[in-house]
Amino acid sequence: MSNKENSHSGRFTVPDWLFEFHGHKCPYSVMGYRMGVIALRELGREKCFDHDLFVFSEMGVGHPQGCMQDGIQASTSATFGKGQMYKLFYGKVGATFFDPSKGTVRLLFKNEFMDKLGTHEFFKFRKQGIEPSQVPANVAQGVIDMVLNATEEELFKVERVPNFEFKPVPGSFNKAKCDECGEYVFERYLRLKDGKKVCVSCSGREGEETTIHLPDFHVGRS
Ligand SMILES: [Zn+2]
Ligand SMILES: [Zn+2]
Repeated sequence: MSNKENSHSGRFTVPDWLFEFHGHKCPYSVMGYRMGVIALRELGREKCFDHDLFVFSEMGVGHPQGCMQDGIQASTSATFGKGQMYKLFYGKVGATFFDPSKGTVRLLFKNEFMDKLGTHEFFKFRKQGIEPSQVPANVAQGVIDMVLNATEEELFKVERVPNFEFKPVPGSFNKAKCDECGEYVFERYLRLKDGKKVCVSCSGREGEETTIHLPDFHVGRS
């Protein structure tokens, strides 16, 4: 889908349901939507009906640009729920899109446009702690228009990632009951405690303990 096919009067458009799904109107959800559209076109494929497109978002926690990920999910259907989206916690507004048969492309929001966007009034409200849904509608629309009116070249660095390899965790229906609470647990999450197989909650995990599953991918040198 090209920019043109997606536009009226020469600019990009997004469906209204993007904002219904996302919850508010903001520029980064629109940015993510555009990223997904470009990635699908670059890879020469349709959206992800099942499990054949993987997205590695470089977003972390605690920065508002994460809205981008909902936009990516909306345009590609490579959703978090289906297990197609992973977070890398790099704290960058970028994402890598991997199709096992078509290759890999990475998109990064360009520094220059991020600087330009950041001067918009919308972010004055945001930095005062005002949530996007509470920002005056004309201000929110104004910053969204900046993203809709920009060219792809202004917005993104687009690069092929050669020799990208990723093996997703194989799907499994295997489950067992926790020896303590009796609740079903998918097997790879069972832990051993005093010879019993228990769930994470019953294993007595400490608050400080974190379990982060980072995707196992490799990028070959080209
Ligand atoms: Zn948002
Ligand atoms: Zn349990």
